[in-house]
Amino acid sequence: MVDQRLSVPRYWRRMPQYYRLEGVQCIKCGRVYFPPRAVCECGSREFKPYPLPSTGKLINFTVLYSVPAEFEKMKPLIIGMVDLGGVKVVGQIVDCMDPEKLSPGVDVEVVFRMVKMDSTYGLINYGYKFRPINNC
Ligand SMILES: [Zn+2]
Repeated sequence: MVDQRLSVPRYWRRMPQYYRLEGVQCIKCGRVYFPPRAVCECGSREFKPYPLPSTGKLINFTVLYSVPAEFEKMKPLIIGMVDLGGVKVVGQIVDCMDPEKLSPGVDVEVVFRMVKMDSTYGLINYGYKFRPINNC
C-alpha cells in the first residue's frame, strides 16, 4: 500500500499553495488553475504564479454531522466551495457556530489553521480554510 502521508520535502514544495493560495496562470491563453497543474487545456506548459485573492464568495456548502474520529472535535464539519476571483476552491468553513445561518453567496475570507499533526515527524501542517466575514 502506498504511503499517502505528506512527507516533509513534499510539504515544503507545496507551501506556496498552502500558505498563499498560489495558483498558476497559463502564459499562452490566460487560464488560471488551482491547484497548479503541469499542462494547460490549450497544451501549453508555460505558467506564471497567480496568487488568489484572500476573500471570496461561498458558492455552496455541505454540513457533515457524521465524521471520522480524527475530525470529531470539528463536528459539525462544514465543507464549502468558494469563488476566489473566478477560481473555485473547496475547503473547510470554520468559525461558524450555527450552520443554519450560513447561506450561499456570503462573503468569506481565507484563514490559516492547523490541518493535522504528523505523528511520525511531529510536523504540524497548516493550511487554508474559509471563515465567514460576518458572523454566522
Ligand atoms: Zn493555456
